[in-house]
Amino acid sequence: MSLLEEARQVAAEFDYTAQDVNKGVKEFIRQMDEGLQKNGTSMSQIPTYVTSVPNGTEKGLYLAVDLGGTNFRVCSIQLHGNTTFSLTQSKVAIPRDLMTAKKAQELFSFLAKQIETFLKTHHNDHFEAHHERRKAMSPSENFTDDELFQLGFTFSFPVHQIGINKGTLIRWTKGFDIEDAVGKDVCELLQKEIDALHLPVKVAALVNDTVGTLMARSYTSPGKTGTLLGGIFGTGTNGAYVEKLDRVTKLSTFSGSTDYDKSTGHMIVNTEWGSFDNQMTVLPNTPYDTALDAESVNPGIQMFEKRVSGMFLGEILRRALLALTQKKECQLFKDENSSSNDIHSTTTIAEDSMLYKQWGIDTSFLSIVQEDASAGYRITRQTLSRDLGVDAASIEDAEAVKTLVAAIGKRSARLSAVAIGAVILSTGKMDDSTQGNIAKQENNEVDEENVIDIGVDGSLVEYYPGFEEYIREALREIEGIGEKGEKRVRIGIAKDGSGVGAALIALVAGSAE
Ligand code: ADP
Repeated sequence: MSLLEEARQVAAEFDYTAQDVNKGVKEFIRQMDEGLQKNGTSMSQIPTYVTSVPNGTEKGLYLAVDLGGTNFRVCSIQLHGNTTFSLTQSKVAIPRDLMTAKKAQELFSFLAKQIETFLKTHHNDHFEAHHERRKAMSPSENFTDDELFQLGFTFSFPVHQIGINKGTLIRWTKGFDIEDAVGKDVCELLQKEIDALHLPVKVAALVNDTVGTLMARSYTSPGKTGTLLGGIFGTGTNGAYVEKLDRVTKLSTFSGSTDYDKSTGHMIVNTEWGSFDNQMTVLPNTPYDTALDAESVNPGIQMFEKRVSGMFLGEILRRALLALTQKKECQLFKDENSSSNDIHSTTTIAEDSMLYKQWGIDTSFLSIVQEDASAGYRITRQTLSRDLGVDAASIEDAEAVKTLVAAIGKRSARLSAVAIGAVILSTGKMDDSTQGNIAKQENNEVDEENVIDIGVDGSLVEYYPGFEEYIREALREIEGIGEKGEKRVRIGIAKDGSGVGAALIALVAGSAE
């Protein structure tokens, strides 16, 4: 068997047929429904207490902060009310010792100080005016919300959200470890330190980054239909969408707040779809997926994410490539296969090649290979040498690598389409089209009235060539969507969910009161 035939054989293990897609969508909808009804399900379907999405006319000056990992970002966002905004921001590294401080107060007072510095630098007039006003106030008097900056707090750690600005920390991740904060309301912790510095700031909303993506897209998106879904395809994958309030039946048995605006009839739900089908009833599986999971820090968890997102695609490829090189007869990266008999072009794999190291291949490698249109796969071969220590790979080697890359990337995008398609179908979006503009439809033009808008963010969807087209191809194969339905779907990059998205959540939080 030729090398390419062998590569095709391994690539075929990643096939995810139209029938599989449809089976996946049905099960995804079932697990979404289950998550809306009760707690402790595979997909968490977390109510966010955000009950509307913006339409681009929102105005005002808001603050947003983002505590995600290594950095703390503070920004102010001026919403111009015409789908545009201006953003001013600062970023500081979190001192290592604060990540493992004894008391939560040590970290949160550092954060409050950063907000103070930001305000003094960029909004000193507000800052000074506030101090004057405070001096003139009687001790019993309080500031009204109008006198304070409303702040959206993006906090990317597991929290149990119980209100729009209330959520208790479940556990720290990403190198943080402050036992004292676990179980406490992180908004309250921040507010306390803000108040200690007498800053004119109210922590108005606790923000999940996926919800931020949805809000940011809805504000900036052309047209007035409102965005249905925000999806992240970066290190991880997750989605948040607009659900009918009366379908979130577990809210009635939830220990959370009942104090939110019910008049819109909607609530944004954070699906946590990375853990779709952890029970593996419909997800595709290969020996490479199985081994990746078994050797991961969380076996059996985030099974959908492990087949879709940036953190994992490189590792799936590495395992598939290794399997190929280890096949007895296979010629991948073997010198007999080199393009010339010249001794200098003998293919070698460095002993310390990243090919042999867990997580040795970054998903950006897949984008480079997928994009490579250079003569004789020059770029792929150079990258194999630079990133993986595989020297003098042949054209056939590069072709084999590309065959695997394309299969893994395509499966990831088709699985993403399962999530997107399931949200579109379960929310009834395909049925609630108005007649719309018939002439436009007949001309195959976008009919604004019937657009289903989706915001996405993350390096994978942004940089992997053809990711959106693979998604679209799969959407066309879904029963109930088809060619006609797929045309109604508009997918756009939504940048800066933790900035403008968080500001917009602070805004809707304020207007709901
Ligand atoms: P995050 O999701 O952490 O906010 P990103 O959206 O940048 O950040 O996603 C980072 C992930 O995307 C990493 O897993 C990385 O391997 C992957 N990645 C980075 N660059 C690319 C690229 N050019 N093509 C595909 N994946 C990429």
